[in-house]
Amino acid sequence: MILIRVGKLIDGTGSAPMEGAALLIEGDRIVAVGRQADIAFPEGAEVIDAPDATLIPGLIDAHVHLSYSGAPDPRLFRAELVDLNYALISLRAAKYAHDTLLSGFTAVRDMHAPGGTIIDLRDAVQAGYVTGPRIMACGMGLTVTGGHMDQGGFADHVSFRDFTSPCDGPDAFRKGVRTQMRRGADFIKVNPCVGSRKDPDTKPYRFEMTPAEMRAACDEAHEMGFHVGAHTSGGPPLRAAVEAGCDTIEHGHWIDNETLDLMAEKGTFLVPTLLVNKVSSAHTANDPGASWGSKRWGENSLDAMWERLSRARAHGVRIGSGSDAGFMLEHGICNLGEMECLVEGGFSPVEAISAATATNADIMGLEAGRLQPGKLADLVLVKGDPATDLAVLRERQNLSVFLGGKRIS
Ligand SMILES: [Zn+2]
Repeated sequence: MILIRVGKLIDGTGSAPMEGAALLIEGDRIVAVGRQADIAFPEGAEVIDAPDATLIPGLIDAHVHLSYSGAPDPRLFRAELVDLNYALISLRAAKYAHDTLLSGFTAVRDMHAPGGTIIDLRDAVQAGYVTGPRIMACGMGLTVTGGHMDQGGFADHVSFRDFTSPCDGPDAFRKGVRTQMRRGADFIKVNPCVGSRKDPDTKPYRFEMTPAEMRAACDEAHEMGFHVGAHTSGGPPLRAAVEAGCDTIEHGHWIDNETLDLMAEKGTFLVPTLLVNKVSSAHTANDPGASWGSKRWGENSLDAMWERLSRARAHGVRIGSGSDAGFMLEHGICNLGEMECLVEGGFSPVEAISAATATNADIMGLEAGRLQPGKLADLVLVKGDPATDLAVLRERQNLSVFLGGKRIS
């Protein structure tokens, strides 16, 4: 057993921090939490006294791509995937996963990987071959031919095996879900709605999947007990994704009020990925090769970003924290950046921590994310007070990470 006594404890629920708190771990679980005076000292327990530290649940990133490096230039990002075998992508991802864990993130949701490689990394972590956070992996995201995750533009003599998973028609999406299930996926990612650069001022989004394809994918996934995460942009296609039963809306740049109301009613989560929106729009603005439509789309999406976040909160939609690390953002360094964006958009630091812990745990169906008896003992002991300033989480030397009751750093 381990008894941790701290100056402050933030439990992940969004409640005010508790001063002079203690938490008791037995095996991989939290067994007691409360004021130091109320927690009995068990005979033989290891005691960690940290009066200047704050205890928080292990952070969770609900949107990462461990198979990607975070190369800032999208062209480089494309080229490196062509150069690497899937085995090497997985081995590299193990390093990214370790970096992510040492940065205080004890769980991640991986939102698409060529070859489904992150399923194997998840298994390697579970087997103890490598040290990493808990990983929930979708395998390959499902997309239509030529869609967001089946992009062309490679030379015609270049061929890929299992690089993407194109599906066309409701039956093909059912098969796509079954194929990812057979591969070992934990949930399903679909691309029902994408951004459109043709007319970025009046119609910056378009349907990619048909509503019938969306329903087929969601019905099949739900039948298997999987949740469905949807890459979206906005407007009627986003609403159709919510109506079809997608459980998490990723990005959602142009989300309307009626759709937000429907999400609040159905319990659909929003993962707004603010940081990658900022970074990719800035990159496009400075890219001489980018089209007028792309630049305009980037500007408009930045304009809409904070207003959308406020509206989503006002409409009662639960908001998770997902960085999109791997896509233009480095693993381990940028995961926290999304939480800082939530604060920039009006969240208090305690609310941002709650988004990245309790809310993300609910998205993933994980028995973590809250410092409560019975939950997994995934936690971070932080030197300083993240309730005042999240920046104390930036320095790894400030963090002691516990995963399933075991001290990692
Ligand atoms: Zn993504």
